[in-house]
Amino acid sequence: MALEAVADRLSAALGPHKVITDPNRLAGYRGIAWGAAASRNDLAWPVGPPAAVAVPASTDDVVAVIGVARETRTPVVPYGAGTGVHAGAAPLQGSIVVDVGAMNQVMAISRTDRSARVQPGVLLGALDRISAEHGLMMGHDPWSQPIASVGGAVSTNGVGYLAGKYGSMGEQVLGLEVVLGTGQIVRVRALPKTSTGPQMRHFFIGAEGVLGVITEVTLRLYPIPERRSVAGYWFPRFEDGLAAVLDMVAIQLRPSMIDYEEDSSREQAVLGLLVDVPSAMYLAFEGFREEVAAQTVRADAICRAHLATPMSREAPRKFWDTRHEASDRWVEQRKRGEVASAQWTTASLPNVSLPVSAIQEFRERAARELAPYRLAIQASGLWGMPELFSVRFVHVAPGDPQAADELDAGTDAGLRLVQELGGSMEYCHGVGLTLAHLMPNEWGVGLEALRRVKGALDPDHILNPGKLGL
Ligand SMILES: Cc1cc2nc3c(=O)[nH]c(=O)nc-3n(C[C@H](O)[C@H](O)[C@H](O)COP(=O)(O)OP(=O)(O)OC[C@H]3O[C@@H](n4cnc5c(N)ncnc54)[C@H](O)[C@@H]3O)c2cc1C
Repeated sequence: MALEAVADRLSAALGPHKVITDPNRLAGYRGIAWGAAASRNDLAWPVGPPAAVAVPASTDDVVAVIGVARETRTPVVPYGAGTGVHAGAAPLQGSIVVDVGAMNQVMAISRTDRSARVQPGVLLGALDRISAEHGLMMGHDPWSQPIASVGGAVSTNGVGYLAGKYGSMGEQVLGLEVVLGTGQIVRVRALPKTSTGPQMRHFFIGAEGVLGVITEVTLRLYPIPERRSVAGYWFPRFEDGLAAVLDMVAIQLRPSMIDYEEDSSREQAVLGLLVDVPSAMYLAFEGFREEVAAQTVRADAICRAHLATPMSREAPRKFWDTRHEASDRWVEQRKRGEVASAQWTTASLPNVSLPVSAIQEFRERAARELAPYRLAIQASGLWGMPELFSVRFVHVAPGDPQAADELDAGTDAGLRLVQELGGSMEYCHGVGLTLAHLMPNEWGVGLEALRRVKGALDPDHILNPGKLGL
C-alpha cells in the first residue's frame, strides 16, 4: 500500500496529532546509538525511512496501530528512546514506527509490594528519581540510565552497574502488559513466582519487539540500602583481578558492582599477543551496615592476596558519581550531529557471556586467530559477574581503507569463537540487525523454534521483521 495511505489510515485511527509524517522528523528516528543501521542479513523489509511514526498515548492506541498494520500489511517497529546499540529499533522502509515515548506515566509505586507499575516510555533515570521519593531504588542502573526507556531496557534485557546483586533488567520484571501481533492484549500477573505454566514474561524479555509491543511494566524496586561502600584497586594483570573475583564467588561474596577493565591504550595492543597491563577494578557493596562492613573487609583481603593496590579513597567515589556521564556525552554528540563515532569504525567492543573456564582460552585464541584481520586485543573486562566478559578489538592500521571491513569480519570471527567455546555473543545489547546473521550459529535448531513462537504471537509477521534474525 502507498505510504501516504498507511499514514492516512493511522491518522484516522489515532487522530492526526499522534502521527508524524514530516520527513525531517522521520529522519530523527535512527534506532541505533552508534554507526550505521546496516544489515548483512536478508531482511523481510530493508532499512529506510518509515511510512510514519505513530505516537500512542495508551494501550488502546497501540491496539489501533496494530490494526492498521495488519490491514495494510505494514511492518511495525517498536521504538523506546533509540539508544539501542544493535539497531533493534532501526526503522524498516515503509514501516510504522511506534514511538512509545509519550507513554511515560508512572502509574503506581508501592513501598509495600516494592514495585512500580509504569508505561514503557518512562526513562530509567526518571523512574529511579521518583522511586527515591518513596525510599526505593531500581536494581537496573546502566550507563544509559538517564536516556534509555523501561520498555527498551526490558526488550534488550540490559545489564547495569548493579547487576552483581540485582541481576539484569529482565530480572526486575514482575508483570507485563503486551499487545501481540494479533492485536490481543496479554497481561502477565505482577508476581515474582507462579507455577501455572512457563513464565510468560520471558517471551517478551529480550525479545526486541518481535513478539509484541510492551505497553505496561511492573518492576521490582529495592529499598535504598542502609549503607553503600565503594572501593577501587589496581591489579598488575587482568588474570590477577579475575582470580580475585573467582575467590569472591567461591565464598559467595557478591559485590553489587564489579567493574573491571584493563587500562590499555591502542599503542599497547600488539597483534597476535596478549599484553600484560594494569587493570582497574571498582567494587560496590550495599545492604545493611554490618553486612557491608564485613564484605568490604573480606573483599579487600582477597584483592590484596592477588597483588592488588588500593586506589585513593576519592577515585572510586568519583567513578561512582560519574558513572552515567557517557549518556551526557552521547546526548551532546547527537546535538552536534556526530552520530557515528570514529572509534567504532576502527574498534569494536563485544560484550559476551562466557563460561568462566573459557575466558583465558578465549583471550589467547582471539589474540592469535584475529591477527589475520589485523585486529589486536586492546582490553578485556568483566562486569557484575565473572561470566559477563567484554573485549575491545582494535584495528592496528586504522587509516587503511580495508580497516572497517576487517573490523567487521574479525569481530564476527571473535563472536563465532565465543559461541564455539560455549558462550553467547551478547550479554546486554541484544541482537537487532547488526548481529542477526550470527543467530543461526547462536541457536541452531532453537532458531526454528523461536520462529514458530513468533508465528504464533505474530501470525502476519508484522512485528519488527528481520530483527533478532526472525
Ligand atoms: C551512552 C550509552 C550507554 C549505554 N550503556 C548501556 C549499559 O550500560 N547497559 C545496557 O544494557 N545498555 C546500554 N546501552 C544501550 C541502550 O541504552 C540499551 O540497550 C537500552 O536498554 C535501550 O533502551 P531504549 O529505550 O533506547 O530502546 P530502543 O533502542 O528504542 O529499543 C531497543 C529494542 O527494544 C525494542 N523496544 C523498545 N521499546 C519497546 C516496547 N515498548 N515494546 C517492545 N519492544 C520495544 C525496540 O524495537 C528495539 O528492538 C547504552 C547506550 C548508550 C547510547
